[in-house]
Amino acid sequence: MAKKEYKFNPQTLSYDVVSTPSKIRIYRILRRVLIGFMLASVVNFIFSHFFHTPKMTNIISSRSELLLKYKILNDKIEASRLKIESIKHRDNNVYRQLFVVDTLAIPQIYEEYSNSKYESFKDIDSDEVILNSWKSLDAMTRLLYLESKSFDQLQELTQNKGLMAMSIPAIWPLDKSKLTNAIGAYGMRMHPIYKRKIHHNGIDLTVPRGTPIYATGDGEVDLTRHSRSRRGYGNEIIIDHGFGYKTQYAHLDSILVKRGQKIKRGEIIGKAGRTGGTTGPHLHYEVRYRGDHVDAINYFRRDMTEEEFEKIVESAKATTYELLEENQNER
Ligand SMILES: [Zn+2]
Repeated sequence: MAKKEYKFNPQTLSYDVVSTPSKIRIYRILRRVLIGFMLASVVNFIFSHFFHTPKMTNIISSRSELLLKYKILNDKIEASRLKIESIKHRDNNVYRQLFVVDTLAIPQIYEEYSNSKYESFKDIDSDEVILNSWKSLDAMTRLLYLESKSFDQLQELTQNKGLMAMSIPAIWPLDKSKLTNAIGAYGMRMHPIYKRKIHHNGIDLTVPRGTPIYATGDGEVDLTRHSRSRRGYGNEIIIDHGFGYKTQYAHLDSILVKRGQKIKRGEIIGKAGRTGGTTGPHLHYEVRYRGDHVDAINYFRRDMTEEEFEKIVESAKATTYELLEENQNER
């Protein structure tokens, strides 16, 4: 029912009924609805700012609970990472030292994955904490992969350990009772002719010509060289023992093996002599590890007492080399 409106008529001194046009009526209704709606919005906005609906309260509390759980997870990942780090430390400093092998390196293993892998996390309105969990978990997985590879390698080495023990040079290259002079030491020494210090890469064992020379470990003949020159190493043999080790036997009178021949420790490979740059018969014996010369005397330890060893080292230090190698080519 339309609402009636009255207007005072001063002439009749009474109220006349005024009828409003329907357009204006509709307009008024709409205006009221609009104002009501705006008021309700403002009230809702203010209200929701200070008070949450039960649903929102739920969401907010479960979100903060989730973030807390992620923080705890992060701490756990970090603790596990530290444990793996300590295993890695033991791997590199104990196990790998035992087998004399280098630290295993896998390129880019410590590099973080590119950001594109974590692109999906950018859409989530989340704390950095979730992204960090993923990143540290990935880092830990990479580290675990490295360690598992490393242990695979060590397992292989253990299987070869028997072979390795037989291959590493460990005995005298000749009968040490045949020695006629003190051992010519490894290291810097004054050259008898050139009168300057030159590094001696091997040790010199003075023995009579024809003294049998033994391979000091299992291996394969890497090189045999016959030389008539009065300089250098003369007739020489190099044996490859694998595991990074090679030995060299020089100034030989004769060579009894061929290149490529498999050799057992203690097998006679040649006879001592005075070929090459030397004034007297002796064996120049060298041990090389991964291409570098090492002091061969340290590889005799296994078949002599500590006392014997110390005595030999001392006498080697005191020796002069006037009699032996006169040529600079031999080092
Ligand atoms: Zn020498």
